Amino acid sequence: MTQVYNFSSGPAMLPVEVLRRAEQELTNWHGLGTSVMEISHRSKEFIAVAEAAEQDFRDLLKIPSNYKVLFCHGGARAQFAAIPGNLLGDAKSADYIDGGYWAHSAIKEAEKYCSPNTIDVKTTLDGKRALLPMREWQLNDDAAYVHFCPNETIDGIAIDEEPDFGDKVVVADLSSTIMSRPIDVSRYGVIYAGAQKNIGPAGLTLVVVRDDLLGKAQRYVPSILDYKVLAENESMFNTPPTFAWYLSGLVFKWLKEKGGVAEMDKVNQAKADLLYGVIDNSSFYRNDVAAANRSRMNVPFQLADAALDKVFLDESLQAGLHALKGHRVVGGMRASIYNAMPLEGVKALTEFMIDFERRHG
Ligand code: PMP
Repeated sequence: MTQVYNFSSGPAMLPVEVLRRAEQELTNWHGLGTSVMEISHRSKEFIAVAEAAEQDFRDLLKIPSNYKVLFCHGGARAQFAAIPGNLLGDAKSADYIDGGYWAHSAIKEAEKYCSPNTIDVKTTLDGKRALLPMREWQLNDDAAYVHFCPNETIDGIAIDEEPDFGDKVVVADLSSTIMSRPIDVSRYGVIYAGAQKNIGPAGLTLVVVRDDLLGKAQRYVPSILDYKVLAENESMFNTPPTFAWYLSGLVFKWLKEKGGVAEMDKVNQAKADLLYGVIDNSSFYRNDVAAANRSRMNVPFQLADAALDKVFLDESLQAGLHALKGHRVVGGMRASIYNAMPLEGVKALTEFMIDFERRHG
């Protein structure tokens, strides 16, 4: 069989070494004669898995000790509701940076619970899509927090700056960028990420929350979304997604073996440079995001002749390059190149693209 590279935006490809390990121990985990899926989340065996995963995640992101790590259900969208519910306190509003599809979706959800101040940062630079730099964001004093999404998975647009807003509580949706580069966690009040891109299987969402923000949930917040309840119960207030937690733990070990987040940063840069380089060197392919805001994780690109889209997708699939169809709201193509995608996968894609252009250009 041809080597397959999966460019899905999520659920996304996982490191093959991790899948092999899970396969080996699936039916007889650690000699128990059963799988890790079938044991109590409160058993000492699973607690050991859970604690190791949390520690490895903390090590990878250098999470300070005054932050809790919560292993939650509900995907990132559940956090769109949990954020206002946990952080509004007595305030009536929060600042929401609108840079793309997912930031906008978070605003729509927040509207159920407060009056979000929408700060539209979308702009153009030399005719290309761009986002205003942080120093131009007009934040409001009465806002309980500022929410933004550093990497827009669908739009392929990113904010690489780290926030520096003094005492403001900064909340970030890192679903499609977490662990792809080092970040300074101390600059954030809350970060959250659905697992299915750079962490592990769908069904798990990681939340990192600063201690002083716990205990402020509105009465309406369901207990399973109340950060204090989750923290007090070590993410086991109800049955957590144990298999996703275990598998994410294997991904964290893999990341550590590969050199951690700093090494991922380098490889991710090399992958993005290679792919954008091929796009920019051709008039057959096009990406319409300004260089400063290009996503290193999700690379949307268009073919000059959209009539060739289907041919491109059929031929790329045959070449073992999967899931390159762009999101339905954007069209064209999109290559998601998270941590688990090796440089060889992006090389294979670019070679295919060059050859495709030669044959159809
Ligand atoms: N935020 C971002 C940046 C995303 O990419 C996604 C999913 N693609 C979501 C939120 C929603 O995540 P979920 O499906 O886990 O609720």
